[in-house]
Amino acid sequence: MSIQENYNKIKNQLPSIVQLVAVSKTHPVSVIQEVYDLGQKVFGENKVQELVEKYPLLPKDIQWHLIGHLQTNKVKYIAEFIDTIQSVDSEKLLNEINKEAGKHNRKIKVLLQVKIAEEETKFGLEIEEARKLFQKFVDGEFSHIEITGLMGMATFTEDKNQITREFDTLKNIFDDLSQNKTLFTLSMGMSDDFPIAIASGANSVRVGSAIFGNRDYSK
Ligand SMILES: *Cc1c(COP(=O)(O)O)cnc(C)c1O
Repeated sequence: MSIQENYNKIKNQLPSIVQLVAVSKTHPVSVIQEVYDLGQKVFGENKVQELVEKYPLLPKDIQWHLIGHLQTNKVKYIAEFIDTIQSVDSEKLLNEINKEAGKHNRKIKVLLQVKIAEEETKFGLEIEEARKLFQKFVDGEFSHIEITGLMGMATFTEDKNQITREFDTLKNIFDDLSQNKTLFTLSMGMSDDFPIAIASGANSVRVGSAIFGNRDYSK
């Protein structure tokens, strides 16, 4: 199938309230431009270096989301233009984003990445840490950050019940925190599991290979 067919197929499967973040990592700007020309404005990348190279070559109304692990010393390279950082997994990183956003006199949207996978995963906040950081935000601690939601990744498994269980966990945390101050974005689901994520309440999905085809894993 062509990229256009892939894209239309995914769009047709998404309820209108669900935001699509097209994950363009490893794919060239020509292909990103092609998807942009189909009407897509929100793209996700997982590496700062790659994003910084692509950014100047593409239309300025693209909303870029960083979805991969972010080192604090790299925040400065994207602070001027990043729309949303989905992968915030420490207080140190929140402080750095707040500082760098302040230098550009802007507010950066962030999602707290919460560990929900039952398998061992490297990145993500424990639930209690996420709760604590969100409370600090509610208390006004970060003036150049807007915590707009949560992001989570399920275990890489064929077991649909397990994936559902993990997504349901994040949805519960999302509802719980929202009682304190409204959260808008619940980002869960990728090419293989986004229908499950939507059934569990996701309103933003991060889809790469189902649109762009398989990535070259040597990269
Ligand atoms: C690569 C990536 C995706 C997209 O994965 P696909 O399986 O290609 O859809 C989503 N979220 C994160 C955090 C990723 O790194």
